[in-house]
Amino acid sequence: MGGLAELRTLPSVDQMLKAPAVAPLVERHGRVVVTEELRLVLGEIREMVRSGGLIPDADGVIASLVSRLDYRDLSNLRPLFNLTGTVLHTNLGRALLAEEAIAAAVDAMREAAALEFDLDTGRRGERDSHLRDLLCELTGAEDATVVNNNAAAVLIALGTVGGGRQAIVSRGELIEIGGAFRMPDIMERAGVALVEVGTTNRTHARDYRRAIGPETALILKVHTSNYRIEGFTAEVSGAELAAIAHEAGLVLLNDLGSGTLVDLRRYGLGKEPTVREAVAEGADLVTFSGDKLLGGPQAGFIVGRRDLIAAINRNPLKRVLRVDKIRIAATAATLKLYRDPDRLAARLPTLRMLARPQHEIRAQAERLAPEVARLLASSGHRVEICHCSSQIGSGALPVDTIQSAGLRIEAASGSALEALAALFRSLSRPILGRLQDGALILDLRCLSDESEFLKSLSEGVGHALA
Ligand SMILES: *Cc1c(COP(=O)(O)O)cnc(C)c1O
Repeated sequence: MGGLAELRTLPSVDQMLKAPAVAPLVERHGRVVVTEELRLVLGEIREMVRSGGLIPDADGVIASLVSRLDYRDLSNLRPLFNLTGTVLHTNLGRALLAEEAIAAAVDAMREAAALEFDLDTGRRGERDSHLRDLLCELTGAEDATVVNNNAAAVLIALGTVGGGRQAIVSRGELIEIGGAFRMPDIMERAGVALVEVGTTNRTHARDYRRAIGPETALILKVHTSNYRIEGFTAEVSGAELAAIAHEAGLVLLNDLGSGTLVDLRRYGLGKEPTVREAVAEGADLVTFSGDKLLGGPQAGFIVGRRDLIAAINRNPLKRVLRVDKIRIAATAATLKLYRDPDRLAARLPTLRMLARPQHEIRAQAERLAPEVARLLASSGHRVEICHCSSQIGSGALPVDTIQSAGLRIEAASGSALEALAALFRSLSRPILGRLQDGALILDLRCLSDESEFLKSLSEGVGHALA
């Protein structure tokens, strides 16, 4: 006992701040934060002593302070291992950028750049000019513009072309993309009246033709990239829709969603329509995302007819939805990689991960399984190598899965499995797998740094299971 009397020996915040061991903490975290955390640590110790605990020694106090400061410093945006099997995971930030894009973004962050300044004439330039030529070159379109994301691209394109009038869209394409993004809501916000045609599974050319009236401004085609209707289905091709629209003097807007710039079959994946194809079919405007299959930063692109792009650029919303210099730099660097399709899979992480052959992933699983089993052995978890299926994610090729390999971890009970998943999430570099059939599956398709993975695991597991 005697704890209460001992409380007087507990150093004050001011004394602690002068302690040599605290100086480097102040250097790193700043005096304000260290003072705040010290107060909390000392307060907790007083509480503990009052309820019969002992006063920790100086090292113990410092250790609590350090772990509080470290915890406070941890960011939810810290790097993690995405072993969910979904390569373009919207909740995990979608595409990982190519080194070329990262370097360009870093330069743009650190230095001034001619963002809206024409170095040739010395006059004011245009923000979009850094991307326009590249986008036209890669898609065959006449003109191009860029906004914050593809949802924004759809919003501004619809509002500019169809504001106050009607847009015809197939009932089979009125999609919800996730979160709060539903096509009908976006259309309403854009001030466009929605005219639904056809049925969920079948829409014909005559359905579109019949719906055209004096108030019609455009036909909207939406690539139903996150689901597929199978069986007794009919949809009207982009080329046919373009013909129907143009006959009636209307605009065809094709929202491709993921929108790839290359034929993915070249890399062993399924067929997704390319932007170039959509343009060639006759769409007047095509919208697509920067951070889905394209593998760049978040952005929304609109390519197509020059007069329509010019009208979009004059829309005041364009200023609201504009993209900053960091993303413009990274986007330009990403797009440039597409000029050399032979080296694309080696340079673009998204494509590299998607194209990674199963035998390579399996070999990695074989290397890692014994190590992971050893780390988890004392806690009674069983680790084995498994087949699994990855998916592209973010709505591309929804029913195509990619054969992959990974580790399957089984626990003694459901709650032990949940606890293990929670432990993995709490690591300084979290490991995210997916819970499936009573096991935690770690799909290794997106794992490149094996030693960092093992280090993270051994640190965390060592702490928790020690
Ligand atoms: C993903 C997607 C969108 C939204 O794109 P973001 O880049 O997420 O804003 C719109 N339309 C389709 C068809 C999509 O697949």
